[in-house]
Amino acid sequence: MISAAARMFAVVALASLLACERQTPEYHEQLLVFGTVVDIKLYGVDAKRAAPLVAQVAEDFQYMHEAWHAWHPGSLGRVNQLLPSGETFAVGPSLLPLIKRSQDLSARSGGLFNPAIGNLIALWGFASDEPPTGPPPTNAEIRAVLDLKPAMSDVHLDGINIHTDNPVVKLDFGAFAKGYAVDRAIERLREAGIADAVVNAGGDLRAIGRHGQRPWRIGIRHPRAPGILASVEVEGDESVFTSGDYERYFDWQGKRYDHIIDPRNGYPAEGLSSVTVFADQADLADAAATALFVAGPKAWLPVARAMGVSGVMLVETTGTVQMTPGIRERIHFEVDELPPIIISEAL
Ligand code: ADP
Ligand code: MG
Repeated sequence: MISAAARMFAVVALASLLACERQTPEYHEQLLVFGTVVDIKLYGVDAKRAAPLVAQVAEDFQYMHEAWHAWHPGSLGRVNQLLPSGETFAVGPSLLPLIKRSQDLSARSGGLFNPAIGNLIALWGFASDEPPTGPPPTNAEIRAVLDLKPAMSDVHLDGINIHTDNPVVKLDFGAFAKGYAVDRAIERLREAGIADAVVNAGGDLRAIGRHGQRPWRIGIRHPRAPGILASVEVEGDESVFTSGDYERYFDWQGKRYDHIIDPRNGYPAEGLSSVTVFADQADLADAAATALFVAGPKAWLPVARAMGVSGVMLVETTGTVQMTPGIRERIHFEVDELPPIIISEAL
C-alpha cells in the first residue's frame, strides 16, 4: 500500500522530470550528403555549442564524400585509375585507414563484403548517378572480371604506397564508407564532450548515450511499403545499419536486379529484401549488412558470428522475418499484421 505522501512525492517527481525533459535543449540538424539526408541529434546541448560542432561534422562528411566517391573524380578515382597499371604509387592519406579497415572486414566476411569488385558493380550499371535500366551485362563480361578473382587481399599497402598485381581490382566503398564516416562523426562529437547523440544517415545510424530519461527510439524501414516495419530502442553505444534491395535496383524482363552483388557469381544477391545489423561500430554494421545480404536467408548466421555483430534482423523476399533472439526481445513491429517470424540461434 503506497502512502498518500509517497504518491504525492511520486507525482511531484514525475512532474519535475517532465519539466526537466521540456527544458533540456535538443539540437537537431539535417545535412544533405552521401546522396542522402543525414540527421544529427544532440541531446542536452544548446544551439550555441552544437551548431559549430555539427558544421565541422558536415565539413568532414563533404570531404569524405568527395574523396571516397566511387565514380566521381577524387582521391579514390585517382587510385582506381592508377591501380590497373601494376605500378606502386602513394595513396591519399584519408584513404589509407579506409582501405585497411575494409581489408580486415572483408576477410572476416569470407569475402562476401568485397570492395574490390568495383568493376562488377560498374558492369551492372550501379556506378552511376543515373539509376540503371538494364539490360544486365552478359555472362562473358561478368566472367572476364570474376575469373581474375578481385579481392581486397590483392591490394598491397606499404606505408603510404599501394599496388596490386590484379588488373581487375577496382575499389568501391559504397557498402561501408557511410558507416565509416558515421564512426568518425561520433568520434568527433565525443572528443568535444558530447555524450548523447544520434548520427543517422538515411536510416543507418550510430547512437550514443540516451535521450534524457529514455533511450533513443529509431525506426527500421519497411522494405516493401512506405514507412517503418519496426522500431527499437538504442542506448549506450550502438549502430544499426540496413541494406536492402529497394533503393537501387532495376527490373528487367520481370526480374529485380539489386545493387548488392554476390562476389562469388557476379550477380545481384537473391533471397532477401533487407538485412538490419546491430553492432558496436557503424562501419562493421554497414559492411556486415552487405555481407549478410549476400550470404542470404540460409547462410547468414556463421557470417554474422565471424564478423562479430551483436544482432540481426532479415526480411526474406517472401516476407518472412528472421531475427536473433536478443533482437526479438527488443523490437516492436509497427505494422497491423505481424509477418511470419523465425527466431534464429543466438549469435
Ligand atoms: P546501401 O547503399 O543501401 O546502404 P550497402 O551498404 O549494402 O547498401 O551498399 C551497397 C553498395 O555497395 C553498392 O551500391 C555497391 O556500390 C557496393 N557493393 C555491392 N555489392 C558489394 C559487395 N558484395 N561487397 C562490397 N561492396 C558491394
Ligand atoms: Mg553496407
